Amino acid sequence: MERPHLLMSTAGLAYKILTWGCQMNEDDSIQMANLLEQMGCVEAAEECDADIILLNTCSVREKPEQKVRSKIGEFRALKEAKPGLIVGVCGCMAQREGKALLKHGAPVDLVIGTACIHELPKLIEGALKSKRRVVADRMPEAWENNGGAESARVVCKTGKVGIKAFVPVMYGCNNHCTYCVVPSARGPERSRPVSDVMAEIKQLVAAGCRQVTLVGQNVNSYAGSCGKAADDTATFAELLTMVNDVKSLLRIRFTTSHPKDMSENLIRALEELPKVCEHLHLPIQSGDDEILDRMGRGYTAAHYLDLLERLRTRMPEVAVTTDIMVGFPGETHEQFLNTLELMNEVKYDAAFMFAFNPRPGTPAAKMDCQVEQKVKTLRLIELIAVQNEITLQKNKEELGTVFEVLVEGPSEKDPDMLTGYTRTNKTVNFPGKRSMIGKLAQVTAVKAHPWGFTGELAEGMSD
Ligand code: SF4
Repeated sequence: MERPHLLMSTAGLAYKILTWGCQMNEDDSIQMANLLEQMGCVEAAEECDADIILLNTCSVREKPEQKVRSKIGEFRALKEAKPGLIVGVCGCMAQREGKALLKHGAPVDLVIGTACIHELPKLIEGALKSKRRVVADRMPEAWENNGGAESARVVCKTGKVGIKAFVPVMYGCNNHCTYCVVPSARGPERSRPVSDVMAEIKQLVAAGCRQVTLVGQNVNSYAGSCGKAADDTATFAELLTMVNDVKSLLRIRFTTSHPKDMSENLIRALEELPKVCEHLHLPIQSGDDEILDRMGRGYTAAHYLDLLERLRTRMPEVAVTTDIMVGFPGETHEQFLNTLELMNEVKYDAAFMFAFNPRPGTPAAKMDCQVEQKVKTLRLIELIAVQNEITLQKNKEELGTVFEVLVEGPSEKDPDMLTGYTRTNKTVNFPGKRSMIGKLAQVTAVKAHPWGFTGELAEGMSD
């Protein structure tokens, strides 16, 4: 992509991006950083050093929204001390609240919805030039209507490609889970064309990336165009097959999968494609059919368990992780026990666990029989305790295993150790030389933790 033609000079301006939320948001933040660097901006070490601060927000729960509001409040003093400072709110909150974020003299100059991130250079220039507050919050729409602009991305900041990268394959969601704000914050489902996805991956790999995670709200329903005819589309399994053929790419991951759209072809792709890692993140949300029905999830616990049985019969080594919510409106103690029972039956490698959080505008927020906060909290505590025990036990069972680890860099816990991930997405910290970073290592798991393993280089591997 060519450098954007800007009337105002942004060269040398310092930026800081704060991110909340999921991988889609993390990827959007990387994309915003790439756009800013293309404009000649440089990353600031601290917020107080920045000329542009962007808050990339999440609306899935109330807490991150509260944090954003309090952060915005903190910027009032900073803006008074530095009148040229541009503060932008981006992401799901920006999409949902739009110009309401400017109310009461909030120190916000830019509001950028989820569909307008690619317009960041133009919007910043507009704010700098006009000294007026700018709102870009139109609803995301199909590619055909926006000329594919949302799919065109700045792939990497010069010389700054990491070992692993997110690659969005689709945006938005056509499901309507009754607790979820994503469809209203990110719009209807739209799959990026195969050619865009493949070009981005090849560019990343040429710049040194070795692992891609294909991301989307529901990658299982990917249907990216791959020809001239409107109905000439590739399935997600077909896309994985193409990505698997990219030379020098070592690993492929993907998230998130929806149990109702998990096809036999996708299970086969997981099983057969050598670069696709043996890890599936498959949100269950609840182990109770009535709750699943009221959540609008479109599957039963039996369907979910059948999927996992088919998968594990063919790939016994596959790691399975999930998202689980407790305290959905009307959830009885028995229904909560059904979730615990499913959890004990599946024995997830790890889980993201939450208490139901009513979000404005969602059907679940208006449902009768909201569960008391203290009941939700107690259920969540119990759920986390059960899962933590399962995770540790599963890791202990794998002691002595020699894992293939993609070495990412020095460990945050101990900078004298290296850290990396197994193909099953478990963290391994082990002693080794920095020259191993970016390479695959064979590492024996010698100590199990709830977060993964301490390891040592397997016999025959020298550092
Ligand atoms: S599948 Fe459901 S939970 Fe996931 S993004 Fe779509 S509506 Fe939200």
